[in-house]
Amino acid sequence: MAEQAEGTVVFGVFNETSGTESRVALTPDIVARLRKSGVTCLVEHGAGDAAEYTDADYIAAGAQVCDAETILEDAQALGFVDRPGEALISRMKPGTWVIGMLGSFTDNEYVETLEKAGVTAVAIERLPRQLSSAQSMDEMTSQNSVMGYKAALVAANAYGSFLPMMTTAAGTIRPAKVLILGAGIAGLQAIGTAKRLGAVVTAYDVRPASKDEVESLGAKFLDLGLDLSAGQGEGGYARALSAEEQAAQQAAVDEKAAGFDIIITTAKVPGRKPPVLLTERGVAGLHRGAVVVDCAASDLGGNVEGSTVGQIVTEDGVKVIGAPYLASEVATTASNLLSRNVADILTHFIVDGALAVRPDEELDQAMIVAGHKPLNAQKEA
Ligand code: NAD
Repeated sequence: MAEQAEGTVVFGVFNETSGTESRVALTPDIVARLRKSGVTCLVEHGAGDAAEYTDADYIAAGAQVCDAETILEDAQALGFVDRPGEALISRMKPGTWVIGMLGSFTDNEYVETLEKAGVTAVAIERLPRQLSSAQSMDEMTSQNSVMGYKAALVAANAYGSFLPMMTTAAGTIRPAKVLILGAGIAGLQAIGTAKRLGAVVTAYDVRPASKDEVESLGAKFLDLGLDLSAGQGEGGYARALSAEEQAAQQAAVDEKAAGFDIIITTAKVPGRKPPVLLTERGVAGLHRGAVVVDCAASDLGGNVEGSTVGQIVTEDGVKVIGAPYLASEVATTASNLLSRNVADILTHFIVDGALAVRPDEELDQAMIVAGHKPLNAQKEA
């Protein structure tokens, strides 16, 4: 049994470390912050090890380090980097709050599992990002920024030459030509990082507004010669293209891609499978030694035909790296940012010292996908 001060919310996080996951949903800095809001923090043994936060760091910040069973028993709210699996959900007490990227747009079955377990589920992917009050809760922005930065480094590392122009006694080496497809949060960070490494960067996005953003970073905007001006969807996001538009876009990208040494793809449409931008034909047209990093790779497919999560596929000397998990490779900072996002979501739902849903709040309406009865209300019932 964890020690709990009277009238506080107890928040717990687990050790989610796996082959590709090194992040943790709560860091010691944020423990200290949450304590000021009256939250008692429980952290599973070793949860922060892979992100360089030790159990001793958590204890020093005022958290209690314990086993998963104690967290499941004592915590009223649980925070996640990745969504909890069904086995863990089945061990949760009804009324527990679950905060994480739950994949609720594409996985109804999973949401039903949460509903059946009687938990109150807060889906971070549904955060109304346009609200100014939601900025500090925006995990998509914080983690995609980290991913875009790391994607440029991974590409540079896999590439067999320099990114900047180099003049040496043995000759001058031309700078690498980098193409970024999808110039949202991750894409803009990838542009900035590749530019700082000295590459000549070109970028493309279907949203007309992105041209100015790309150019303001000193990159060229790729003209595909297509009119996809209606590519802007709701809320500042892209819309899904029609089959004809997509085919025209793929043909144009495949052709233009041939001139580049490195291609980084980050294109997504909320709630949909990522669009294929570069087909097998386009990959086959790249020169030996070219590197492709597909940050949108997923089990449903990514932006690059044939990309596979966690693998480097090498075809005719072209490396295609399926890497949606790159934020995890900058685990210390990515965890700290993510932890701040999750903590601010948690504290949004604390009203008068207890977890509560305010049905008239836009954020609550948008994010609660299962259950709506807070634990305290259940205890009272
Ligand atoms: P995202 O991860 O959903 O998509 C990444 C990028 O892929 C987007 O720029 C999108 O336009 C692009 N894309 C989708 N389909 C494409 C296609 N077929 N071809 C080329 N590109 C394609 O989005 P994100 O990066 O999280 O955010 C996108 C934009 O949303 C941001 O640049 C920003 O302008 C806006 N945004 C606004 C707020 C806010 O209002 N506070 C917050 C977050 C994001």
